[in-house]
Parts: sequence; structure tokens; C-alpha cells
Amino acid sequence: MGIYRTKTSEIPDPSPVRVVELRDGRRIRKLTDKSYLREGRSDVRNYVQLLFLLITLWIGIDFYLFVNGLERGIVPVVQRPPGVEGFLPISAMISFRYFLLTGIVNHIHPSGFFIFTAVLLISTFMKKGFCSWICPIGYISESLHEFGAKIFRRNFELPGWIDIPLRSLKYLLMAFFVISVSSLSAMELDGFIHSGYNKVADIKLYLFFAQISTFSLVVIGVLILLSIFYKNFWCRYACPYGALLGITSLVSPLKIHRMEQTCIDCGKCADACPSMLPVDKLDAVNSAECTACYSCVEACPVKDTLKFSVGSKSKGLSQRQYALLLLAVYFGIVGVAVLAGLWQNSISGVEYLSFFKNIGAISHAF
Ligand code: SF4
Ligand code: SF4
Repeated sequence: MGIYRTKTSEIPDPSPVRVVELRDGRRIRKLTDKSYLREGRSDVRNYVQLLFLLITLWIGIDFYLFVNGLERGIVPVVQRPPGVEGFLPISAMISFRYFLLTGIVNHIHPSGFFIFTAVLLISTFMKKGFCSWICPIGYISESLHEFGAKIFRRNFELPGWIDIPLRSLKYLLMAFFVISVSSLSAMELDGFIHSGYNKVADIKLYLFFAQISTFSLVVIGVLILLSIFYKNFWCRYACPYGALLGITSLVSPLKIHRMEQTCIDCGKCADACPSMLPVDKLDAVNSAECTACYSCVEACPVKDTLKFSVGSKSKGLSQRQYALLLLAVYFGIVGVAVLAGLWQNSISGVEYLSFFKNIGAISHAF
């Protein structure tokens, strides 16, 4: 089977796709060569999501034991897990900006800085894979809408006039945080980083959930319900972290490309897309909403018609290759931090204990 080239991509010759006219006059594209049918599915992303969920649970249990020691009025015997700083995105953003201005990695929440840097790097070069491969909230959100689809045999969609303004909510939140952090001088950032509030921000977050108010429980309950009905409700409408990664992902050289020549216009890719992108109508998915989840690639029945690649002519990354690259970047940066002795923070158990005794009195630095 020969291959001839056009400006945009390689076209198999003879083409495996034929345009067929139906009795009602409609013209559809039909796959005539069955050897072009895609076979098998890859569950690699599920395993990676599970891995990060287990890491999160491990961090959660360790942190619970650490705070439990403080609650009993003793210096905890269990070491505070540094990975907990991955749940302090604003503090991490402040650390990142401080690093850009001064070249210094702060010793209060250094692992938060490294996790944030890894996640930013991933989104800049590989679309916002953090959301669909690493983030435990993304995983839970996805599981909820899949559960909803099983029960109701479908997910629901908000009408465009609600969807578009609601979607801008997360970008507005993101802009607020980015502008606020960008407007601070190095001295002000340093003041926040070394404030009592920032030092115990992780414990405050823990106490928020451990002593959760009825109002917060109701809000979380409503979000869970909405996530059952609507695909990725939290990620699509409310998460400012995802919005930031989406904006940085716009420069990603790697993205989903569709080979129009072998596409049979079946629309399965668009149906499968959790971000509801019209993949079947695009040559390349440039959207800030694409999370490199590979759902479209997995749903496409025609081999090599959708690929996650640098250009339409280059070879696509398989899910397995994407996973290896993502894990290499993420754990590579964590490894560098550990080897450089920058992973653990510099707050001692005694200091944590003295902060904990007055934790109720420690409030926002700004
Ligand atoms: S289904 Fe495809 S286009 Fe949609 S978010 Fe996933 S990778 Fe991006
Ligand atoms: S799944 Fe999408 S890209 Fe693949 S053949 Fe169908 S419409 Fe074309």
C-alpha cells in the first residue's frame, strides 16, 4: 500500500475511506478497509490516576497522624508528609513568583513550589495532563459523571447561555489570584511566605475538613450531585488551578490532531470528550479545556486518525508513552528536590506544636 503526501498529512493510497451516497441523498464517509479499524483499549491513564489517588491517601493518612500528635499536645513522632503542600496552590504560586523574582526556593513550603513547577511544565509542553492524569479531584469528578452516565444512560449539558458565562467563572477566579500575586513585591511575598498563616496553611486546610461546617458540607454535596449529572462540573466551571493550566497549555507543542483524510465523521470522539470539545470538526485541538485524556483517541474507530502529536505529520505519542513522559517530568522534579535536600521544609516539630496551641488566632497575612 503506497503513501502519497499532501501539505497537511500522509494519506494512505488507496484511501481506506469512501464517500457513499445514501438513498435520501445524504453523503457519508465509510471505512472500506477493515484493516484500518482500531483494536483494543488502553487503561494506562486509569492506572496512573489510581497511583496518584493512592499517593494522596497515603499523604492524607500521614498528615492525619502528624496533626493527631499536635492535637495530643506532643511533638509528632510521624513526620509531616511534604507532598501535602501540593494542596496549597496559592502558597505554591507565591513561592513560584518569589523564585522568579529572587532565584530563591523558600524553605517554608518548598515541595509545594516543586510540585507547582512540575505541573506548570507538564501543561506548557503536554497540555493540561495534570487534570486528567494526576489530580485526585479530577479522578473523582470523572468517576462521578461516569456513574451518572451508567444510571441515566447519558450526561446532561447546560445550555450555551449558561455554560459560557459559567465557564468564565474559573478564569475570573484565576485572574484574581494571578493579578493579586503578581502585584506583590519580593519583600511582600517574603512576608507572606514567612507568616504564621502560611506556615500552618496545611493544618488549617486539614482542620477545615476535620471540623467541616454544615454549610461547607452542603456545598460539597451539591457539587457532588452536579458532577453526577454534568461532566467534570467542578473542573469545567470552578477550578482556578485548571484554568491557569489551561492558559499555559495553549502554547503546548503537543496536542490532539485529526487526520481528515481517514476520518469517517462518526462523531465518536466528540461524544467521548469530557470537555465537550467538537474534536470531529477540528484539525487540531487548541483549546485550553483539553486535558490530554486520550478519550477521543480511544473512542475513534479508525487507526491513527486521532493522535497526540507535535504536528499533523509527526508520529503520535501512545497513552503509554505519554504516561512515561508525564511520570518522568513529575517524579524527575520531585527527585531533584529530594536529592538537593529541598523537599522537606524547615519548620521543626516544636515550632509546629507552639503554632498549633494558638492556631485559632492565626489568620490571613493580607
Ligand atoms: S477527549 Fe481528546 S480533545 Fe477532549 S479533553 Fe480528552 S484529549 Fe482533549
Ligand atoms: S472518532 Fe472522530 S476523528 Fe475518529 S473517525 Fe469518528 S469523527 Fe473522525
